[in-house]
Amino acid sequence: MDYWIRATVASGRVRALATCTTLSARSAQAAHRAAPLAAAAMGRVIGAAVLVAADLKEGGTVRLSADGGGPVGRVVAEAWGESVRARVDNPALELDLRQDGKLNVGQAVGRDGELVVTQETDALQVWQSRTSLVTGEIGEDLAQFYAESAQVPAAVALGVLIGRDGQVAASGGLVVQALPGGGEEAVAVARKFERLSGISHRMAAGESPEEILASVVPVPLRWHGRHYFGFRCRCSRERSATIVQGLPDQDMDQLIEQQGAEVICNFCRHAYRFSGDQLLTWRRAR
Ligand SMILES: [Zn+2]
Repeated sequence: MDYWIRATVASGRVRALATCTTLSARSAQAAHRAAPLAAAAMGRVIGAAVLVAADLKEGGTVRLSADGGGPVGRVVAEAWGESVRARVDNPALELDLRQDGKLNVGQAVGRDGELVVTQETDALQVWQSRTSLVTGEIGEDLAQFYAESAQVPAAVALGVLIGRDGQVAASGGLVVQALPGGGEEAVAVARKFERLSGISHRMAAGESPEEILASVVPVPLRWHGRHYFGFRCRCSRERSATIVQGLPDQDMDQLIEQQGAEVICNFCRHAYRFSGDQLLTWRRAR
């Protein structure tokens, strides 16, 4: 199962999070029948959402949306409790590889836009932060989010490896944050992060995100419990029915004429069918 885990150092001035998101990224790819590039973009945004959600109080939801004006469109992930789900506007997109042979997630997402992070607590308080995209590669954009919203320097690594079969082979993320007084330690870690390439390659070769994190943090880490999660949707027939019932009379009449309606969930592509008779009953009850 996928998980995230928190670590601190003895001085208490640096904190870190590591996450394995391989199964969730794979499920997202399957749900959207996504080509490798869109699958990689979703996998990275899933990792980012999970890392931000790890800091949220229980019962809250984090929604992370990257919209950089690129050809893959908007990439969104939501994380809450033991669940995460994701969507992308253009799952079929294909672009040439970068010169270094990697998928060009930055070009697909684009950087003419924002990373929008919305946090919602169970008390329905909503807090939103908007950060201009730096590269569209998501990792650096998330680091920028931490720097601007939390006012603490952070180093972020997010990676998704696509196997030869075109499917997600490994996906994970790391974030190291310097707390007040931990500036130098964190800067040292950030420098190591710059040389840390291919977290997903290392995961595919058998290393856990914890092992990779421990290899880049120059001081011993204290680990806290693992929190498990998986790709899950929270759409339902009831919610879809509410959408149809909320349509204007004119639209409703048109659907009745067409003998029914279908609501397809943006996050899991599940289709909810409503018959013409059902629509007629709702229409008459107005
Ligand atoms: Zn759904």
